[in-house]
Amino acid sequence: MPYELSGYKWGDPTLGETGGKVYWSADLSSGLQYDPNLYSLSDFEDALRDAFQAWEDVAGINFVETNNPALVDIDVTMQFLQGNTIGLANISYFQLPGYGQIDSASIYMDSSEFWVPDGGASFSFYSVALHEIGHAIGLDHDDDPTQIMHSIIYASDLGAEDIAGAQAIYGVLCFTRGTMIDTPDGPKPAETLAAGDLVMTRDRGAQPLTWVGMRRLSPRDLALYPELAPVRIAAGALGQGVPGVETRVSPHHRVLLSGWRAETLYGKGECLAAARDLVNERTILQDATAPGVDYIHLMFERHEIVTGDGLPSESFHPGVAGMSHLEDAVRDEIFALFPALERDFAAYGGTARPVLSAAELAPLAEALPR
Ligand SMILES: [Zn+2]
Repeated sequence: MPYELSGYKWGDPTLGETGGKVYWSADLSSGLQYDPNLYSLSDFEDALRDAFQAWEDVAGINFVETNNPALVDIDVTMQFLQGNTIGLANISYFQLPGYGQIDSASIYMDSSEFWVPDGGASFSFYSVALHEIGHAIGLDHDDDPTQIMHSIIYASDLGAEDIAGAQAIYGVLCFTRGTMIDTPDGPKPAETLAAGDLVMTRDRGAQPLTWVGMRRLSPRDLALYPELAPVRIAAGALGQGVPGVETRVSPHHRVLLSGWRAETLYGKGECLAAARDLVNERTILQDATAPGVDYIHLMFERHEIVTGDGLPSESFHPGVAGMSHLEDAVRDEIFALFPALERDFAAYGGTARPVLSAAELAPLAEALPR
């Protein structure tokens, strides 16, 4: 295994479960050395924000910056660090059966280093912060020097193994190969769709795809990280003809609940729920025997509800956990299409329906047909 997981994570201790909201704050005002002719303090604060955002994009964690000391989970400060150490992360956690749960973390950036904010150079404030935040979300070192989690930081940004490590801990979301997506010309396999193709959406009729991505998980990937295995939903598990045939989605892909299922849980209307939160071990179960899987992302101008194999579910949303397991080149592709996202994921807009948590869904697991 190229990277190692530390054995603890934020949020629910289950591997593959999102980390929820993690509040962070930083005080870089004392001890930060840099060239004031070239940079200002806010350049470094922005670099740090970008570093948290970079992990949020791939890791299924919602990082929230706060000034309220009572809320802070991760604090970032400047400290004098001994020797060649230029960044350090201290984590406190509870050891639980299975996986430890992180309680708080402190990140120290070296006050004896002369810093640049980013600029793509290794040893920039951004790249060292990325590395330390990586530790703070539960990653140990990677033995590949092209990855940000290598013990000596040569890389300037997240690499594929860094992303795979974060994804192993905090989950994936998307469609699978073979899922028949409703289009104006009838259902088409998800993997045959391309940017520009029209797909039927629940709210706005036929809409063009702005981007399509695919991530392949090998049998070895799934053997190492069974929590990433697809969730199989039997025909009719979520209503008459919903789905029309057995379908498979990634564990964090959110499906639409309507009718009495939504009313039971949410009061009225429709809501979204992650597939893994609907697992009842009868009609909906995680497929531990899957020999490998291709996960496919379908993205529109805004978050949409589309229908695959007769099951309405969400399109790709680049917020919170949405950029899961995308490699740098793929993320750049999305940023080229949606430049506003590079600075602010909120620019994409909210989810097409309210999203229910695992706890909110508990009453439904009992009520689903067996
Ligand atoms: Zn390290």
